[in-house]
Formats: sequence, C-alpha cells, structure tokens
Amino acid sequence: MPDKPYWEHKSLDELDVEEWEALCDDCGRCCLLKIEDQDSGRLFYTNVVCRYYDNDGSCCTRYPERSRLVPDCIKVTPEVARTRNWLPDTCAYRLLAEGKPLYPWHPLLSGNPDSVLAAGISIRDRVVSERYVHPDELPEHLAHWLDDAD
Ligand code: SF4
Ligand code: SF4
Repeated sequence: MPDKPYWEHKSLDELDVEEWEALCDDCGRCCLLKIEDQDSGRLFYTNVVCRYYDNDGSCCTRYPERSRLVPDCIKVTPEVARTRNWLPDTCAYRLLAEGKPLYPWHPLLSGNPDSVLAAGISIRDRVVSERYVHPDELPEHLAHWLDDAD
C-alpha cells in the first residue's frame, strides 16, 4: 500500500470517479459568473452565482443536466484542470494539475466538510443569484473578496 494519499501518488488521469469527485471541496467558486476584460483577457469573479446554485446546500441543484442547462458550465476534467484559467487557484483540481498540495482546510485533509466554510473559501452566504441581477449590472458586483482569477 502506498503511504501517500491517493491524490499524491496518482495523476489526475488515473483517478476513478469516486476519487475524482471527492477532490471537489464544494466551494462553489466555479459557479460564480465572471467578467472578462476585453483588452487583457483577464477574468474577474463576481459575487453573482448561477441560478441553479443552492446556497443553503452549497451545491448544484441540477448537477446531472448542468451542461445542457448552462452552456457555460464546463465539466471539469483533467484536461480542463490543466488548461483553463477560470478555475480558482484554491480549486483542488487546479492545484494538483499545477503540482501543488491541497490546502489544510480541504475536507480530505481536515475530515470535516465545514472546514471549507470556516476557512472563508466557500461562497455560501456571500453571493446573490443571477435571477436577481441584470447582466448589465454584473460589473457592479465584482467579488473583491475573491480576486484570484488570472
Ligand atoms: S472550484 Fe473546484 S473545488 Fe470548488 S466547487 Fe468548483 S470544481 Fe469543486
Ligand atoms: S449548473 Fe450547477 S455546476 Fe454548473 S455553474 Fe450552475 S450551479 Fe454550478
């Protein structure tokens, strides 16, 4: 038996479904709407979240059909983790793709799913649904507390 946890001795491509899904800490950051600076190409997160995000449950309410309902909702794969800069820099998939360790608050290390909220990583209670925000108003909702997209 390897003495390292699975995410340290397997590559992203080698993970089975259960191992892959366990890496998601349910922070919800990838469900935030983003704005792209047309000149620099830089992405900025807003505190406006997808209409299908459930704040209380910190989860997607339409997960199996998310790609059909929301064309911008891109399924995270090893290739996406390696190539897409819209994943937040706290995301376990992005961290591992970049050869970095998980943060201590990750549930796989803390043993407690609430540690994501306690560490201030979860978007829970900090966002508003896109149902209540006109698209033209998005620039007024920049998430300065989460300015880590590059
Ligand atoms: S940003 Fe990464 S860890 Fe957070 S919910 Fe999205 S896929 Fe999961
Ligand atoms: S459809 Fe679900 S997973 Fe996709 S962005 Fe919306 S809430 Fe997030």
